[in-house]
Amino acid sequence: MDDLHYDLCVIGGGINGAGIARDAAGRGLSVLLVEAEDLGGATSSASSKLIHGGLRYLEHREFGMVREALKEREVLLQNVPHLISSLECVFLQDDEQRPQWLIRLGLWLYDHIGGKKSLPNSRVVQLADHAFGKPLLDDMLDGIVYSDCYVDDTRLVILNAVDAAARNAKVLTYTRCESLKVCDGRWRVTLRDTMSDETLDVSASMVVNATGPWVGKFLEGVGIGHRDPDLPMVRLVKGSHIILPRQYEGDHAYVLQQPDKRIVFVTPYQGKYTLVGTTEEEFEGNPRDARISDVEMAYLCEAVNCAFSKTVLPSDVIFTFSGVRPLLDDGEENSSEISRGYRIYHHSRYDPPFLSVFGGKLTTYRALSEAVVNQLMRLSGRVVEGWSAGEPLTGGDFGGHSLEAYTQLQRQQYPWLPVELLQRYVRSYGARMDYFLHSAESLDDLGMHYGDQVFKAEIDYLVQYEWAATAEDIVWRRSKLGLHISDDTVRNIEAALAS
Ligand SMILES: Cc1cc2nc3c(=O)[nH]c(=O)nc-3n(C[C@H](O)[C@H](O)[C@H](O)COP(=O)(O)OP(=O)(O)OC[C@H]3O[C@@H](n4cnc5c(N)ncnc54)[C@H](O)[C@@H]3O)c2cc1C
Repeated sequence: MDDLHYDLCVIGGGINGAGIARDAAGRGLSVLLVEAEDLGGATSSASSKLIHGGLRYLEHREFGMVREALKEREVLLQNVPHLISSLECVFLQDDEQRPQWLIRLGLWLYDHIGGKKSLPNSRVVQLADHAFGKPLLDDMLDGIVYSDCYVDDTRLVILNAVDAAARNAKVLTYTRCESLKVCDGRWRVTLRDTMSDETLDVSASMVVNATGPWVGKFLEGVGIGHRDPDLPMVRLVKGSHIILPRQYEGDHAYVLQQPDKRIVFVTPYQGKYTLVGTTEEEFEGNPRDARISDVEMAYLCEAVNCAFSKTVLPSDVIFTFSGVRPLLDDGEENSSEISRGYRIYHHSRYDPPFLSVFGGKLTTYRALSEAVVNQLMRLSGRVVEGWSAGEPLTGGDFGGHSLEAYTQLQRQQYPWLPVELLQRYVRSYGARMDYFLHSAESLDDLGMHYGDQVFKAEIDYLVQYEWAATAEDIVWRRSKLGLHISDDTVRNIEAALAS
């Protein structure tokens, strides 16, 4: 037990758990991060992939939350340039839904309440005279263009875990926390390796429950704190996305107002595709079983058909994914009006510190993580200030260059790499691409070619540094290659992992 003692055990390797592990490791704590399946495999890979303030939450007067998210958008844009890029969003005006003055007022606020920003202010465009109007129905007259950001959500999780490990955190994937008990003033944490079925006990001075939509079930399962009358409640709300063949030219997104007052985003995705989402359906059951329903499929197709001239049918949909939001239940009846804010709950009846995270957004994970670790510092009598706002996420240090300039430098460094492959590497790994490329002088030096520009060197790197254990971990989470590569290539990756 003594060998396996940590200052902090973080349970749950979604964006919040990975962010907390990174922040705590950076403040000198010995940290263990445990994830029941793969990192980012639950809600954090099923998001709309926006780093945004959340324009529509202004309507619900959530000014504090929107301000924090917009500030974080700026922080992340600076620190995560490899995974996050700016995204122009065309908000389609529909007077029956919201008057234009309201949208313009909202966007004026959105432009200003976040403080310093590097993204341009919003502007009105006449769609009939603008390229943005081209794929739309003729009755779409006005649009307001504003800026937000796009992120590779799952890689954001994984690189936070990689960064935590680089700061000496231990990361265990496919490892479920099954029990938590206080023993001699410490937490005894029982873990099960879900691949070998072996169990392991470790001890920790502090524990954080960052199990996202499982936050309540986890407490119930380990018999800790769930009967606490002050415990916040979560509402589980499913959201689904559809992926269509690319519907229009350009790198901008569209924001479509719906008759039920919700908004649906239509975003360019992975070069060849268009992503449409999301929906909101109350959810019961295991979040891992969340799948799109026929009603959601019809809703999303209808949303596209009410704005675009090209009709889409469910049969056009190439792929779907669904995730479950763990929303902080504020008693609001309509799920789309529930706050996207978060609460960090201290289970104060236990001596060794134990915190649970309720709610949150991908966008605010860094601020949430900092707040969690600040609280742990106070509870354990340590004084180490937060640091993560001013530090690039691993791979994001381009030595002062922009992404474009850094990509050019890497082209000079690796002139033999096909441009598309080089861009994929820069976008996925940032400066960490040198880990598997630095000694190579030709494609042959990258080892076996499994097909579709997937080489052994990359797979070896993912296994050695990013805990990739299965082909799915590689083609759906550490990359989105699953959308692009053939079944043969996937089989070759599987065979390589098995050998
Ligand atoms: C449809 C949809 C769209 C969204 N779009 C956006 C968006 O565009 N922008 C934005 O900012 N936010 C968005 N969000 C919100 C955002 O995705 C979530 O707030 C965030 O991903 C939650 O992260 P998490 O770490 O709390 O949970 P999760 O990512 O679910 O991670 C929790 C982890 O805990 C693990 N776990 C559970 N039990 C155990 C156990 N016993 N032992 C070990 N591990 C365990 C699970 O396997 C899981 O990986 C969206 C959410 C949804 C559902």
